[in-house]
Amino acid sequence: MVDVKLENIVKTFGETVALKGINLHIKAGELFTLLGPSGCGKSTTLRIIAGLDFPDSGTIYFGDEEVTYLHSSKRGAVLVFQNYALWPHMTVFDNVAYGLKLKKLPKEEIRKKVEWALDLVKLRGFEDRYPTQLSGGQQQRVAIARALVVEPKVLLLDEPLSNLDAKLRLEMRSEIRRIQRELGITVIYVTHDQEEAMAISDRIAVMNVGTVEQVGTPREIYESP
Ligand code: ADP
Ligand code: ADP
Repeated sequence: MVDVKLENIVKTFGETVALKGINLHIKAGELFTLLGPSGCGKSTTLRIIAGLDFPDSGTIYFGDEEVTYLHSSKRGAVLVFQNYALWPHMTVFDNVAYGLKLKKLPKEEIRKKVEWALDLVKLRGFEDRYPTQLSGGQQQRVAIARALVVEPKVLLLDEPLSNLDAKLRLEMRSEIRRIQRELGITVIYVTHDQEEAMAISDRIAVMNVGTVEQVGTPREIYESP
């Protein structure tokens, strides 16, 4: 569990200023949502926190450690992509085990950790299935298990519900909440859906074209003019 601090983060893509000097302080163990319309810079912010992209200027801290230019594999924040990005030719087990195999952990330890992660997302018994044999919600559970199996300090979720139908969306909303509470992990969550943000978040940052306009609890955001 760690808090995440962004100080004056600027990011440009050619002529486009995607982030115009963003400041955020995300508390350890909270579910913090970046809310805003398409193109406002939510994904760019997540990618920069994950270490998949780097800011032009500004500083990022995880706890007391500066991680601004630290490689993604070294900083302990894992991003779950919107489309899950599972490997279609690998079973559920192998998808979840992948990151552990890269670390060259002993086989028995890998098996235990994969079982722990699949238990957490309630997918024990699905080890030998392929992604195409799973529903959208189950695929997302695999993606979350794959992210959590490496025991990250921060879990980053980019529009995690957008590919699901309405019923599954509600179900996965409460599942994400349950998992977050069970682990006490810091979660940074991206959505353009205000109702979803209100329902799932401890706190919300409302973004608009590269800036943070407002930060508060769902109630504070709702009651503000
Ligand atoms: P959001 O996630 O809120 O939809 P993004 O962070 O994806 O917003 O994008 C913010 C802005 O930066 C947009 O104008 C987008 O077109 C631009 N942008 C994002 N990534 C790139 C990139 N790799 N190359 C060029 N422009 C980009
Ligand atoms: P999201 O739907 O999560 O906001 P996007 O579809 O905006 O994600 O972006 C997906 C990928 O495309 C990201 O790697 C992003 O950096 C890149 N991207 C976004 N906008 C642009 C753009 N205008 N030009 C080039 N790449 C972009």
